[in-house]
Amino acid sequence: MHATTDHPTLAAEFVANQERAHWHDQALWFVRAKRDRMAQSLPEWETLRETAAQIKAHTASCLADYLEEFERNATRLGAQVHWAANAAEHNEIVLGILQQRQVRRLVKSKSMLTEECHLNPFLERHGIEVVDTDLGERIVQLRRETPSHIVLPAIHIKKEEVGDLFHEHLGTDAGATDPSYLTEAARGHLRAKFLAADAGVTGVNFAVAETGGIVVCTNEGNADLGVSLPKVHIACMGIEKLIPRAQDLSVFVRLLARSATGQPITTYTSHFHGPAPGGELHIVLVDNGRSEILARDEFRNSLRCIRCGACMNTCPIYRRSGGHSYSNTVPGPIGSILAPARDAARNYTLPYASSLCGSCTDVCPVKIDLHHQLLTWRREINARGLLPRAKRWPMRLGAIVLRRPWLMSLARKAGRWALAVTPRTFVYNRWNAWGRQRELPPLPPRSFREIYARRGD
Ligand code: SF4
Repeated sequence: MHATTDHPTLAAEFVANQERAHWHDQALWFVRAKRDRMAQSLPEWETLRETAAQIKAHTASCLADYLEEFERNATRLGAQVHWAANAAEHNEIVLGILQQRQVRRLVKSKSMLTEECHLNPFLERHGIEVVDTDLGERIVQLRRETPSHIVLPAIHIKKEEVGDLFHEHLGTDAGATDPSYLTEAARGHLRAKFLAADAGVTGVNFAVAETGGIVVCTNEGNADLGVSLPKVHIACMGIEKLIPRAQDLSVFVRLLARSATGQPITTYTSHFHGPAPGGELHIVLVDNGRSEILARDEFRNSLRCIRCGACMNTCPIYRRSGGHSYSNTVPGPIGSILAPARDAARNYTLPYASSLCGSCTDVCPVKIDLHHQLLTWRREINARGLLPRAKRWPMRLGAIVLRRPWLMSLARKAGRWALAVTPRTFVYNRWNAWGRQRELPPLPPRSFREIYARRGD
C-alpha cells in the first residue's frame, strides 16, 4: 500500500511506463467489449438492470429486517453467524475461530472484504499462514502487492513478470512465459496448499435472507476446493451482499459474469446451505462503514454494488492510471465513491479521478448513478474545505469567468492572442500539469462563435 493517496502523483508513476499504460488500457477495453457483446445478446438486459436496481433499493430500505431474517435462517441450517462492526472486529472474530481450532494453515478464495479489513497481514502476524488461491491473487500475494482490480487482481502484471516470479518462488524454468505451463505450475503449487490447509475462507457474492444460504462465484473452483477439504469454512461478507429471496438470484447471476468478464455465467456458482456434514460454517457479517453510507441519501445506492468491475473496465481514467493509483481495495469509479465515505480527507483526490463521461453509470448492472455521486463528492469535498489552495483558487476564478458570458468572451479572445504570441515554454512547463501529457491542437483562424455570428454574411 502506498503511503500517499494522491491519485495524480500515483497515476503519473503508472503512466510514466507508457508501454504498460497502453497495454493495460487495451487489455481492459478488450474485457469491456466482451461485456458489451454479452449485454447486447440479451434483449431483456435493461429490464434485468432495472429489476436488480429495484431489488437492491428495496433490500437497503429494510436491511436490518433482512439481516435478522438471514441470521435466523442461516442459524437454522447449522451455520454460526457473527457480527462485526468494523474491520478490527472482523479480524478478531476470524482469528478467534482459527485459534480455538488450532488452525495454522489457511486457504482463502477471492474476498474483497478481507482485503478491505487487511485480514492477511493480521493473521500472518499471529503466526497463521494464509494462501490466496485465486491465481491472480496468488500472483499479487507472492509479489507482496495488493490486487489492482477487484475481478482481475493481476491485470497490471505481464506474463514475463509472472514467469520471473514463479521461477523465483515455484521453481519453474527461467524465462518461461507460456501461460499454460505457468498455470499448470501454479495448480501444482496450490494443490499442495489445499491439501495441507486446516480451514478455508471465502467471500460471499450473495446471501439470501429467505433461505439463509450464501452463494460464491468463481471461475477457478478454488473456493469449492478450499472449503471441501478442510472442516472449517469461514465466509466473510459485507452486510450489503444480502438479497431477499432465492428467486432474486436469477437476476443477479445473469448480470454478474456478463458485466464482469463477458461470460454468460461464472464457471462455478456454488450455493452453501449450512455446513458440510461433520464440518463448520461461520458467516461473518461486517458493517465497517456501510451503515453510515446507508444513512446518506446521496450515496446510499453505492451499496448496491455487486463488485463486477465493469465501471473500472470502461473508465478512461482507471484504464490509464492502474488500480494501485487509487490506494484503496476497491479502485475505479465505485472505489472513488466508497473511499471518501470512509475517510474524505485521506481520499479527497479520488472523486476528481474521473472525466465524468458517465460511461461507468451506463455499464453498471445495478444502475448506480456513479458519475453523479462523484460530482456530489466533489461538492462535498470543496464544502468541507479539503481542497488545496492550488486547486481551489483556479476553480473559483473559473467559476467567476464561466458565470459571465462577456468575461468568457473576453478571456477567450485574450487566450487566443496569448497562445499565438507566447513562447512554447511558457505554456508547456512543469507547472502546467495539463500540458505534461497533452498538446493543444493548432488554433483555427476564427473561433466557432465568430463563424456562427457571420454565417449570414
Ligand atoms: S459500481 Fe456497478 S459497475 Fe462498478 S463494480 Fe459495482 S456493480 Fe459493477
